[in-house]
This record gives sequence, structure tokens and C-alpha cells, in this order.
Amino acid sequence: MTPAATEKFAERMRAAIARIGKPVRLMEVCGTHTHAIARHGLRALFPPELQLVSGPGCPVCVTPQSEIERMILLAREPGTILCTFGDMLRVPGIRSSLEQERTNGADIRVVYSPLDALAVARKEPEREVVFLAVGFETTAPVVASVALEALESGTKNFSLLVGHKLIPPAMDALLRGECQLDGFLTPGHVSVVIGSQAYDDLAREFRVPCVATGFEPADILEGVAMLLESIAECRSGSFIQYRSAVRPEGNPQAREVMFRAFRKAGSEWRGLGSIPGSGLKLKRDLASLDAAQRFSLPEVAPVEIPGCRCGDVLRGLLSPADCPLFGNACTPRTPVGPCMVSSEGSCAARYKYE
Ligand code: SF4
Repeated sequence: MTPAATEKFAERMRAAIARIGKPVRLMEVCGTHTHAIARHGLRALFPPELQLVSGPGCPVCVTPQSEIERMILLAREPGTILCTFGDMLRVPGIRSSLEQERTNGADIRVVYSPLDALAVARKEPEREVVFLAVGFETTAPVVASVALEALESGTKNFSLLVGHKLIPPAMDALLRGECQLDGFLTPGHVSVVIGSQAYDDLAREFRVPCVATGFEPADILEGVAMLLESIAECRSGSFIQYRSAVRPEGNPQAREVMFRAFRKAGSEWRGLGSIPGSGLKLKRDLASLDAAQRFSLPEVAPVEIPGCRCGDVLRGLLSPADCPLFGNACTPRTPVGPCMVSSEGSCAARYKYE
């Protein structure tokens, strides 16, 4: 981005803030935005009256501690291969972690796609293979298609521990909570699937603008400028900055695949608690792929890591640097909470770049 373009966006933000005439509090929901903002030093370009807080858009971070404990229990099942995305490996449990379990001898493999996990199951038919399915609307359609493929092909040694979550119900819960917000930068990748229209209801009910935004510095600055201009003009609703990828209607085919395998269900979020309709569960005809049932995994009572404030960070109530453990007891080498582990975690972003 040229200095002239940067100044143009900065001027748009200053002009809008001047018309609003009071401080504004916005949230970037997505962890990829959080990292881009920190990496490119965009905060320095914001007017002082603008506060941009990070939200719950890191799937590893919002997975509740009780679910991490269940993953650890699953890793201890004799003969089982656990397949997971890499970030989950280092998330601390109360007394262990998947990484620790792997050191202790559990067979835990990092994969880049659920298809890789299915390939492991086909290669080792005598072993049980479980894929830890976490992620938002971006990941869920791919996982759904792999689940359907496993069912149709009769791959009997493959199952899923499903922890998928949906973004709009979490935004709705935030607006009903104590975090005062004037607008949202909505996640670009999620919006490609669900469309900008998915935010219409909450934008109307709470009279806030939502801008589906891309990931380049210019995209983010334009998204923030669009939010401020909407507030200055008292326009609520859903808008698109990421015009090259996001459509109002999203990607209906991806959603169709997602809802062939999954149904909406209540889900527990770290920091946000239980939110109705905010998660995905396997449909009844795919119940045989449910690892929780297959291994009779017990429910684990809600539990917190002592001293960790990730829940407050994920609700936008606490800046990472204001956590007492930030940068001393908790660093990327010695993470206490998931927000310091994940490549999309806001504590990791602050530590690394700011
Ligand atoms: S600094 Fe560490 S302990 Fe504190 S909120 Fe962030 S991840 Fe959790």
C-alpha cells in the first residue's frame, strides 16, 4: 500500500470520527484480521477515539477447556490415532496437553485437511482414527464432505470429535452481553460461505453495521473506514468490503454440503459460555461417525486454567497485555492459555508484533 493510499484511508477514518463526535468501539471478529492488524501496525493509523478490540474468531481459542480435556482423554484410548490441526497440539490442558500425551506415547498426528485424516484411516484399517473437527463455517463444509465420503465408502475405523462453531450466534451473544460494541469487521472467509446477509438480523436488531472485510492492510483500513462512515450516517446493516470474494447470498452449495452432514445445536464457547444454535453436531444418519459415542467419552464439567484470562480476551473485555500473566508466565514458548498458542490467537499476535 502506498503512503498516499494509507493517508487516504486515515483521512476517511478521521473525517468519520469527527462527524460521529464520540468514541467508537469496534470489534474485529476474526483471528486472521487480528494478526494482520498487529503485523502491519495498523493500530497506529487509527484515530485516538477509535478502539478496535479482538473477538472470538479463533477456533482453537474458543474451544472450551472441558473439550480440550475430552481430547486428552481420547488421546489415551489404546490403539487410537488422533488427527488434528497443529495449533491444537500445544493448547494447555489442566494437567496435560495433546503434545504431552504424544510425548507419553499417544499416536497424535498433525494433518492439514480432514482428507489427510481419512487417508490415514484407509491406510491403517486395523486402527481407530479420530479427526478433531474444530473450526467455523469456513472449515465445516470440507469436514462435512469428508464425513459423507467416509460414510458412503464404509470406512468403519474413521470418526470425528465435532466441535464446530457458527459465528453469527456468537456475535449476537456478544451484543447481548457487557461488551459495548458499535460495529463489527466480519470475517472474510466465513462470510464467503454464509454471505453478508447472514448478519442482517443482528445488524437490524442491535442497529450496528457489519462489514465483511478482506485481509490485506488496505482491505482492513477500508473496512474500518466503511464502519465509521456507516455509524456517522446512522446506517446499520451488512456491507461488503471484500467484494472479490463475498456475495450477499454467500455460497449456498457449501452450506448445502455442511447441512447434509451437520445440524445446528447449542455449543459451549470459552469465555462466552453456552450459546443456543451456535454449534454443529452430526446428523442422526451419520451418528456412527461420532467419536464421543464410539468411545463413550464422558462429559467433562466446565473447568478453567487458573489465572488465564482468555475468556475475557475473547469477549473483547480485556486487552491481552492487561492479563497479569502476559509476557511473563505466559509467552508463546510457555503458553498458559490458547490465545497465546494459536496462530490466530490475539495474545500471540500482541506478543509477536506489538
Ligand atoms: S496472556 Fe496467556 S493467560 Fe493471559 S489471556 Fe492471554 S493466553 Fe490467557
